[in-house]
Amino acid sequence: MDHESRRLRLRARLDELGVEAFLVTFGPNVRYLSGFTGSNAQLVVARGRDVFLTDGRYESQAAAEVTGPERIIYLAEFPPALAEACAGLGVGRVAFEAEHMTVGTHEDLRAVCELVPTRREIDRLRREKDAEERELLKAAQAIADAALPEVLDRIRAGVTEREIAIDLEATMRRLGAQDRAFESIVAFGSSAAEPHHGPTDRALAPGDVIKMDFGALVAGYHSDMTRTVFLGEPSGRLRDIYELVRAAQQAGIDAVRGGTTEGAVDAAARRPIEEAGFGPAFPHGLGHGVGLQIHEGPWLRRAGGDVVPAGAVITVEPGIYLEGVGGVRIEDMVEVTDSGAVLLPTSPRELIVL
Ligand code: ZN
Ligand code: ZN
Repeated sequence: MDHESRRLRLRARLDELGVEAFLVTFGPNVRYLSGFTGSNAQLVVARGRDVFLTDGRYESQAAAEVTGPERIIYLAEFPPALAEACAGLGVGRVAFEAEHMTVGTHEDLRAVCELVPTRREIDRLRREKDAEERELLKAAQAIADAALPEVLDRIRAGVTEREIAIDLEATMRRLGAQDRAFESIVAFGSSAAEPHHGPTDRALAPGDVIKMDFGALVAGYHSDMTRTVFLGEPSGRLRDIYELVRAAQQAGIDAVRGGTTEGAVDAAARRPIEEAGFGPAFPHGLGHGVGLQIHEGPWLRRAGGDVVPAGAVITVEPGIYLEGVGGVRIEDMVEVTDSGAVLLPTSPRELIVL
């Protein structure tokens, strides 16, 4: 991956931010800009050169993964090491990630440099995926696509939500996932009315809806997909809701195009749901970016005013949730291009009755 040109893009922001350097402390952002995959590191991007800091556990890993920035290995705390780095770089005014720094670290760092808060600077850089990132997202999604039919084949009345979640996760691992992308959601029947239901020991009964939201992790990149299927014929009402959610998802996908706004895509999918009288039953945003984090920008939600750039990979995931009845969500990742959306998953979106 071209970490050097990513750092160049951040470096280009220094003047506008009125700083001499940018301190990156959030793990996924350090990884994005340096390639380092360990659990503790910081990066200072300055005009002339960059400095990467980590602790003694990661000396050899950093040497292998981080090329370009000068490396500082510290034994104890990072603020004194940062002081050394700032002195070496000759910088006094340093931007930091206000959403990610603790008050305690801020207190410690104030003693060594002048800190300027910034928000979502690197999140914005990360929105547009490069070709290698898109390949990893596709690889992660392909594993989830391959796992789904295997797991659907094993679903019988009496199986529990937890058992399906474990099966999904084990199957994705067996198919090559480094890990699950997030804690899987598996919800049966009325529990599917909760958008984010943690799997329980509830047993599957004929006629139940089965909502599964799951993904795979590949080389740090996440996939995210939701499928809602039925054990036995669903009621007419749930079937209607399924078709409405599917039409809303398609309307959202059709509205995706490089340069549109987050809110415009959300509105396109929300409209048919609202027109059918289910507006209050769709209580979350339409989707989100996916990459080194499972949830990142762009944020498709009602008031989202930021542009959705070509190159972003986003989810489109409308849902309708009815207390006491159940819920339907259909979620797919799409790549944003100038001419529209390209679906990443290959899993069918038609209603499936097991
Ligand atoms: Zn999801
Ligand atoms: Zn999602």
